[in-house]
Amino acid sequence: MKICPEAASGVSRVGMSAVASLKKIIFAEKKLAINHFHQIKALLVPGTRVLITTHANPDGDAVGASLALKAYFSKLGIISDILVPNDYPSFLAWMPGIDQVVVFKRNESLAMKLAGDAKLVFCLDFNGLSRVEKMQKIWPLITVPLVMIDHHPQPEEASFALMISETATSSTSELVYNFIEMSGDKELIDKSMAECLFVGIATDTGSFSYSCGYPETFHVVADLISKGIDPERIHRLVYDNYSEHRMRLLGYCLSEKLTVLHQFNTAYIYLSKEDLKRFHFQVGDTEGVVNYALSIDGICMAVLFTEKDNHVRMSLRSKGQFSVNEFVRNHFEGGGHKNAAGGNSYLSMDETLRKFEALLPQYQELLKNCCVLCKDYQ
Ligand code: 5GP
Ligand code: MN
Repeated sequence: MKICPEAASGVSRVGMSAVASLKKIIFAEKKLAINHFHQIKALLVPGTRVLITTHANPDGDAVGASLALKAYFSKLGIISDILVPNDYPSFLAWMPGIDQVVVFKRNESLAMKLAGDAKLVFCLDFNGLSRVEKMQKIWPLITVPLVMIDHHPQPEEASFALMISETATSSTSELVYNFIEMSGDKELIDKSMAECLFVGIATDTGSFSYSCGYPETFHVVADLISKGIDPERIHRLVYDNYSEHRMRLLGYCLSEKLTVLHQFNTAYIYLSKEDLKRFHFQVGDTEGVVNYALSIDGICMAVLFTEKDNHVRMSLRSKGQFSVNEFVRNHFEGGGHKNAAGGNSYLSMDETLRKFEALLPQYQELLKNCCVLCKDYQ
């Protein structure tokens, strides 16, 4: 078990006065240090107004973990609100409780009020304050402790009063389950909460195809299924609901916009604003596209470049030992996990692609070796 050293003086930008005596927690091997755990729990008194926030472009894990945590708090008599920076994808719109989620981009004044009124703030599925993008406006209004629950590497420790940070897990949703379990409240997890947690675990593991080598994850999933959820129905709701436009956009990406650089074991797809317009792009429509590029035999790194208003958004995936997290951190202002990361380029699309291609020769050996290892079935 790894416990972070005591929060160094002045280490947290937010709310340190209220939690000067609290220590940060690194929650390793899924065993919370009991004394620190009680300190988090001590903040969760009935009547406390809690705000739950997530990263921008909230995904199944961010939304699932938040909805389950809110439902749990409600059972403890703790009022909470969920605030997300921008819209969640429509394939999550069926999730229990999602109608109460406040979207910063749509209701900035309510978002600012919630931030100002909160007595405790949870940050779920992100570990750096800039990950909320335009919603960063709320941070100066918050003088209460920020509690992070997340599974990404390299947390921005200075920004959080308390951290539950574990990378050896499937998802933040699994960590929320662990948190409830550690509280002795597993029995409070009802079917709706189980559905939310299942969505988080299933989507963050690509339906149990990566980040799923932990036996505990399957114990958690078994318990969620015992709560009466229907995994097949959830899979249908999340995955089998493409609009016609989304399906045609996928076809276009694969037939017209895919570049395969076999010599670098790399493939990429890029989408301009015109492409997105042509296919009536909705939030979530490019979700999963990059995985198709990665699933080509011999490809160890895949990237989707999407043109936004003032930057190019990058979504990266890799196989095996090649770390796209390191790659984007070093070159494209981003981060994430070893095999799934996101980044940003403030160059034009053309310049971004040129910069990307120019970087590949220095990674050629690494990518090649990675591919050889990926094929090693011994
Ligand atoms: P996606 O490609 O699905 O947007 O993101 C892949 C993973 O990387 C997710 O776990 C996501 O949270 C993380 N991620 C995406 N963009 C960024 C970014 O700009 N910075 C950091 N630190 N992580 C990111
Ligand atoms: Mn996640």
